[in-house]
Amino acid sequence: MIKEQGIRLMVIGAHPDDCESKTGGIAVRILRKGGSVLYVSATNGNAGHHVMKRDELKQRRFLETRKVAEEFGIQYHVMDNNDGDLQNTLENRNRLIGLIRSFKPDIIVTHRTNDYHTDHRNTGLLVQDASFLLRVPLTVPDVPALEYEPVILYMADGFKKPLPFKPDVVIDTEEYLDEKAKMLYCHESQFFEWLPWLDGELDQVPKDEKGRLQWCRQWLLNRSKNLMNPEIMKTYQKIYGDKAKEKLISFEAFEVSEYGAYVTQEELCEIFELP
Ligand SMILES: [Zn+2]
Repeated sequence: MIKEQGIRLMVIGAHPDDCESKTGGIAVRILRKGGSVLYVSATNGNAGHHVMKRDELKQRRFLETRKVAEEFGIQYHVMDNNDGDLQNTLENRNRLIGLIRSFKPDIIVTHRTNDYHTDHRNTGLLVQDASFLLRVPLTVPDVPALEYEPVILYMADGFKKPLPFKPDVVIDTEEYLDEKAKMLYCHESQFFEWLPWLDGELDQVPKDEKGRLQWCRQWLLNRSKNLMNPEIMKTYQKIYGDKAKEKLISFEAFEVSEYGAYVTQEELCEIFELP
């Protein structure tokens, strides 16, 4: 699986910033090992603000994705679907098939289809519905079909019904925490405006760069803390063995989708070069 030119990772999130917060660590890890990363946002993010209008927000959030792309060497594609309105349509599915075939990922990461946000659910559905058709030449005939099946992984979440997230692989991402915080920092409209406004803590947002990076770092630590459960710890300890830390403060975990290539935990560890 590990090719000379490195792993090709494609992350398909619903909003600009979903990919960063869920996969920033593995993205940096793969890039450092000579691989390539493509982030796709299935919507333009133009509903994520309490003051701005859709048009100006769409433009601002696009520029925020450009910052991530330029600073980290990540390819970034934003699909022009309105935030909150994403539908699992034939048009969106075919666009996604074209994007996936053009990038030729080894691994695709997306949302699970039971999630609080309609855009997250529909993004997961779009990827699932595209999965088999990636290899069907008569579908989207202008982009050559894949001759292999990519591995499809789901991002970690805390939703339990009808089925909780199953951590097939857990990756310690503490060493990438600063870089991940920098990725979130690029999404100024979200981490220093919209999300604190939703959480009623707009008055606590630091004004200076150092304070803001620390704010993003803390957000990531809280995220890992909230997602932690005995199942995640068990998988982590199994994978890292003697190298497992007593406390895992920052991690990314993924569940294998049945709709992608079959892959064992050992093979996943090989792909991500763990521990
Ligand atoms: Zn989102």
